[in-house]
Amino acid sequence: MHLVFVGAHPDDETSAGGTIAKHVDRGHEATIVVATRGGRGHWSTPSDELERVRTGEMERAAEILGANLMFLDYVDADIPAGDALRDELVDVVRRLKPDVIITFHPLVWRDDHRRVGLAAADACFKACLPLLETGHPAHRPVPDIYFIGEPMVPVEPDTYIDITGYMDVKIEALKQHASQWVRWEIDEDDSTATLDEVVESVRYRARQRGLESGVAYAEAFISQHGRKRALDLFPRR
Ligand SMILES: [Zn+2]
Repeated sequence: MHLVFVGAHPDDETSAGGTIAKHVDRGHEATIVVATRGGRGHWSTPSDELERVRTGEMERAAEILGANLMFLDYVDADIPAGDALRDELVDVVRRLKPDVIITFHPLVWRDDHRRVGLAAADACFKACLPLLETGHPAHRPVPDIYFIGEPMVPVEPDTYIDITGYMDVKIEALKQHASQWVRWEIDEDDSTATLDEVVESVRYRARQRGLESGVAYAEAFISQHGRKRALDLFPRR
């Protein structure tokens, strides 16, 4: 089984880090697709330098999770709305042939995330249409889509993945994104979190999802199938 995570920025994969690591640990393939290299994710580092730094951070995080990595090279904070990204993702789906896609819910608040999530979901369906021609043949069946269950999304999660035993690797991958976990020196009441605070909040969130689902730690998702279909992300090979 091939699990493909489609995110907007290096570090977005943290929301599914435990799930990705578990999937790979069970003997399956995982690929992280990142639409940008995060070149606007700092208050002072120039974009080209920041992109180099964050590319390295993302490469190390993907290696820790055991996932392949693919960048699409859109501009951070400027991912276009519309069909261009969807059409590119149609081709990505056809090349990678995923069984499962994890991406952002189309109602998430941030435009980069929202546009990536909507384009990825639409691409999953269009990739199966043989008369829609790209450089690669149609991919069937349509991959199962799971949206990240976030607090700001007005849809409750219906799918929980038990990541007990995978918290350390999730946190270790998160820590690679060091450029993001520093105080932004913009003003005195800046609220950007330090690494320790981010780690604490990620652990807290995973524990909270664990309590909701009866395990120690979990990650939560929203399936396009709702509760009508059981999740089988990790079948025995
Ligand atoms: Zn992001």
